[in-house]
Amino acid sequence: MTSPVTSLVADNVTKTFGGIHALDGVTLDARPAEIHGLIGPNGSGKTTLLNLLCGYYKPDGGAIRVGEKDLTGASVQSRARLDIARTFQKPRLLGSLSVLDNAMLGGWVHTEAGFVETLFGMPRALKDERRTRDSARDILAAIGLGDIMDRRADVLDHAHQRFLEIARGLVLGPKFLLLDEPAGGLAEHEIEALADVLRTLRDCGLGILIVEHHTDFVFKISDRVTTLNLGQTLRHGTPDEVRTDPEVIRVYLGA
Ligand code: ADP
Repeated sequence: MTSPVTSLVADNVTKTFGGIHALDGVTLDARPAEIHGLIGPNGSGKTTLLNLLCGYYKPDGGAIRVGEKDLTGASVQSRARLDIARTFQKPRLLGSLSVLDNAMLGGWVHTEAGFVETLFGMPRALKDERRTRDSARDILAAIGLGDIMDRRADVLDHAHQRFLEIARGLVLGPKFLLLDEPAGGLAEHEIEALADVLRTLRDCGLGILIVEHHTDFVFKISDRVTTLNLGQTLRHGTPDEVRTDPEVIRVYLGA
C-alpha cells in the first residue's frame, strides 16, 4: 500500500489466536492531523489491530510501518520513541501519586511492565526530569487539568482519570495517539469536552486513531472511519459514507 510518508500504516495484517482469525488481511492508515475512527461489533478485531500498531502483538502476516520505516518486529518501547502512544480502556493510574507525577510517567513509560520498572528505575529514567515535568505541566494545563495537578490520582472522578490517561500519552510529544474506548463511562458533557480536546490535538498535527463503541461520537469527530467485521474491513470512508452504508447498518449499526 502506498501512503503519505508520515502515516502509521497497518498493511494487510493478519493475526491468529489458536484457530481464531482475529485479523485477516486488514489495511489501515492513521494520518497526521486526522482523527480516524475504528468501529465494529465485539470480536471484530479492533483491539487486536490497536495492539499490533503499538507493538503489543506481532502480526502473523503483513507489516506495520511509519512512513517508509518498517516497525513489524519493533518493541513497544522503540515504537514509543517512534512517536506512537496509546491509552487503555481502563485508565492505568498510580492512585497514590499526584496528577502531575502520573502524567510524568508518560515521559518514560509506555509498557505494562514499565510501570513497575519505572518505580524501581527512577534515577535512570529521570535523566531529563525537568523537561518531562515542564511538558507534563503544559499538557495538563492544555487538557483542563491544570488546577488539580497536585491532587492524588485516586480521588479524581472517572472523566478526569480518562483525561489524565490521555495527558500521560502526550508527554513524549507523540505523532500518533491510539485511544481505546476514550468515551467509555463519560457523560454527554464530558464527551463534548473530550471531543474538543481531540479536535485541538488533531489541529496541532497529531494523528489520532480511536476505537470506540459510542458511534455518534465517532461519526461526529472522525475525519475517516473504518468498520471491521470478523477480522476484515467491512467499509472505510468518510463518516457519512460509512454511516449510510447498507452493510454497515446491517452488520453493526442496526436498521
Ligand atoms: P474487538 O476489539 O473488536 O472486540 P478483539 O480484537 O478483542 O475484538 O478480538 C478479535 C477476536 O480475537 C475475538 O474472537 C477474540 O476472542 C480473539 N482474541 C483477541 N485477543 C485474543 C487473545 N489474546 N487470545 C485469544 N483470542 C483472542
